[in-house]
Amino acid sequence: MKWNIYCIGHDFTRDIEQIVALFFEDPTLIFHRIEQKDINEIAKPAMAIAMEYGEEVTVGIQLFPPKGDQTYSISHGEKVEEEDGVARRKHCKRVMNKGLLKVLEHYAGMVQPWGILTGIRPTKLMHTLVQEGKKSEEARHILREERLVTPEKIDLLQQIVDRQLKVLPDLYQLNEKEVSIYIGIPFCPTKCAYCTFPAYSIQGQRKLIDPFIALLKEEIKLVGEYLKNAGRGVTTLYFGGGTPTSIEASQMDELFQVIYDELPMDGVRELTVEAGRPDTITPEKLIVMKKWKVDRISINPQSFTQGTLKGIGRHHTVAETIEKYQLARSYGFSNINMDLIIGLPGETRKEVRESLVQAASLRPESLTVHTLSFKRASEMTQHKEKYPVAGREEIHHMMEMVTHWTGEEGYVPYYLYRQKNILGNLENVGYSLPEKESLYNIIIMEEKQTILGLGCGAVSKIILPGTGKIIRFPNPKEPRYYVDHFQEIMSKKFAKLIEG
Ligand code: SF4
Repeated sequence: MKWNIYCIGHDFTRDIEQIVALFFEDPTLIFHRIEQKDINEIAKPAMAIAMEYGEEVTVGIQLFPPKGDQTYSISHGEKVEEEDGVARRKHCKRVMNKGLLKVLEHYAGMVQPWGILTGIRPTKLMHTLVQEGKKSEEARHILREERLVTPEKIDLLQQIVDRQLKVLPDLYQLNEKEVSIYIGIPFCPTKCAYCTFPAYSIQGQRKLIDPFIALLKEEIKLVGEYLKNAGRGVTTLYFGGGTPTSIEASQMDELFQVIYDELPMDGVRELTVEAGRPDTITPEKLIVMKKWKVDRISINPQSFTQGTLKGIGRHHTVAETIEKYQLARSYGFSNINMDLIIGLPGETRKEVRESLVQAASLRPESLTVHTLSFKRASEMTQHKEKYPVAGREEIHHMMEMVTHWTGEEGYVPYYLYRQKNILGNLENVGYSLPEKESLYNIIIMEEKQTILGLGCGAVSKIILPGTGKIIRFPNPKEPRYYVDHFQEIMSKKFAKLIEG
């Protein structure tokens, strides 16, 4: 839908885009800067958003919909006491966002459960409030009144933050002496339709695998040297991608050997390998992972409906998921995660129910429930017409069903994140049985500890002590680029690390 947006007394276009996107799919917004006196000249459909800065900062919004004569208007004001320029501007934006959210909720007849929070990590805000010493009631009040988050979502945030601090009581101090490590293996058997991860079909990349692994070993050595010099240990190590188990068992074995030889692994609390695609799991790879003390693996069904798997380009069967899960159990893996996605094309509550029935019988230690999101570069987004998905209401019913089911089955939410263009403006939630939480997932979500990313598509995030400011360094996504520019990438990376 196309909307004219008339801005009077401000330039908060980015915030407007984010709030409007919560209500309309792919809206086109045409921004105009006008004076109050020109308000009668506007072209509909339109929103006129005027800010006034007096003793209170006030936003006045008029919404003129495409059809009908009814207009919707709202005026919302707050005292803005911040004197610092950045903090004051942030508060003014909040005033506008709240007014805009309210008028759009009224017009669209819906409530946005996350209020004006449009970021990926709402739990991070709750942690900040805890670190500032806010009592629970005060933190809840801020989320409700200043961000318009619904009480249900605040309860969820509180539950997750409490859980995280129970599992990692030293979460806020982790950065002092240790880092976590992420290793990206960018290969998969085939590319799933919804995926934008660095995942290259292994068939087309055979020649690159050996040089990639050889240089990855080099990078591990360099990081090991850096950590030893800095006197820092490793808290968690996570193999992701792509699907790390796409490579051969012997190649995995060699990589683990280098990891244990070069990295300070003595105090490591968790070692995870994403074995997401069941079609990559073999007895040989399970033996290698057991040999090197991998604590936790993921085997991801996404759905237990065969037609859905075919439709999204996952070339494995439901039977194979179950078979490989049982195989992993028979090799002694006692912490297995499964990922499910809500809202996959063609699915309704019926298919989600089926997935839950199957999950109940397998009983993985953790279950990560994603809501489908249309990422810009994915095949699914490029050809949306081929992938019909359920409406907002149905998606909300699915999520309710999952929430109810996890509660009944004893799974507890322990991490959460949101994505752009996520169906129903919902969230992704990691659930686990008590004491089976993934520490790495908590660390990456809450950004309290430096994570060094090695390999392809891995982003290093250096958390500066004191300020918590983050310096990012992305390794390249493409294995060809990684192989051809390795020395240059490493020089830049270690310069950043040393600077941090
Ligand atoms: S298995 Fe995972 S990483 Fe690989 S293509 Fe599918 S979603 Fe992407």
